[in-house]
Amino acid sequence: MDAYDVVIVGAGHAGAQTAINLRQAKFDGSIALLGDERAPPYERPPLSKEYLAGDKPFDRILLRPETFWSERGIAFHGGSRVAAVDAMDRRLRLADDRHVGFGKLVWAAGGSPRMLPCPGANAANIHAIRRKRDVDTIREQLDEAKRIVIVGGGYIGLEAAAVMRKLGKQVTVIEALDRVLARVAGPILSRFYEGEHRTQGVDLRLDATLEMFETDERDRATAAILTSGEAIAMDMGIVGIGIVPEVGPLVSAGAAGGNGVDIDSQCRTSLPDIYAIGDCAAHGNPYADGAHIRIESVQNANDMARVAAMSIMGAPVDYDAVPWFWSNQYDLRLQTVGLSIGFDDCVLRGDPASRSFSLAYLRGGQLIALDCVNRTKDYAQGRALVAAKAVPDKEQLADGERTLKEVALA
Ligand code: FAD
Repeated sequence: MDAYDVVIVGAGHAGAQTAINLRQAKFDGSIALLGDERAPPYERPPLSKEYLAGDKPFDRILLRPETFWSERGIAFHGGSRVAAVDAMDRRLRLADDRHVGFGKLVWAAGGSPRMLPCPGANAANIHAIRRKRDVDTIREQLDEAKRIVIVGGGYIGLEAAAVMRKLGKQVTVIEALDRVLARVAGPILSRFYEGEHRTQGVDLRLDATLEMFETDERDRATAAILTSGEAIAMDMGIVGIGIVPEVGPLVSAGAAGGNGVDIDSQCRTSLPDIYAIGDCAAHGNPYADGAHIRIESVQNANDMARVAAMSIMGAPVDYDAVPWFWSNQYDLRLQTVGLSIGFDDCVLRGDPASRSFSLAYLRGGQLIALDCVNRTKDYAQGRALVAAKAVPDKEQLADGERTLKEVALA
């Protein structure tokens, strides 16, 4: 049986960054990075953006050149799915029955796309966008697909819609709620993006629930049937309705958790010497009033990787990073800082009609988050205000001519 001082499960953003941080911190023990995907670690955000559009080849979205891992003494094992964790004996069983021993374990397995529980959802032309191979399959089928139905009006669904329009496809987005981005943003931002997508020619259906996909004899979905009875003819479906955290083996081993594995401020699970980080880790976030949440972002993956690495190095730090996120749709660059959960007031800076504006979210007068559309300066300067838990003057905040730095100093 192979054994390593540190075994990292999941070779995505969080797992790869942990290995990088350990070596940067001069960790001289052995490290294995196990991932069930064959490809070496790569950036996931381009999957619904430049990689889907065909604007960036795969080698340009690799997190590091292919040779980096072996050069740093990091044993990358692609195609290695961990099926079980034995926390007492400190070993993992892989799906192919190999065993790997560990001194410390970092669980960074992300999540799997949530599946639609309806007939036709597994048809050959219905896809999620989570992994390289999802997008490779979509692109292989694209020549024959003119009409695309996208289920889910979250970031991934909307980014995919923007790419598909750019590729000249006919696009319908089906969203069950009464606005897009409902889980992550306030209504003003939702309305803005709804308008943009409609202007770009997307047929956006709100309050619309999918009943099933009708399929043909080749197991291809030919129509999306709504609960209203309406049938929307289609050649391809893309489903973006969130993820289910990949934590089964760890929870079976006894780790506390529910929606993700529970961790403390140093990313430690309830099991000794086992950490969990990234999309699959439920933590008390200081920017959500300590509420136990999972955050799905590159920022969170990278910052948790640093916290876990520091703890392994015996120089522990607490996770208290300011959350940030971005989304690219058409020529719109959205940058978000903070978490708007539970906001009780929202101040608009600038004019959405100019396609450059920000929304400042407040709770009890405190600035808790900003959504900045084509307004990078607000994002950059607003970060400091969110981090400082500033209580800005509302009138000054609403003055789009005034920089956020000026608002902070007032
Ligand atoms: P992942 O990157 O998902 O890596 C987990 C890895 O573990 C995967 O390779 C998985 O295959 C592997 N794995 C799972 N189970 C096992 C197992 N049992 N054994 C071995 N390996 C396993 N974030 C942003 O901040 N900005 C964006 O614009 C943005 N866009 C996105 C677009 C798309 C299409 C997607 C899917 C995500 C996007 N995100 C974005 C989110 C961001 O990519 C994730 O938050 C980030 O990848 C999380 O990193 P992670 O390492 O926790 O998980």
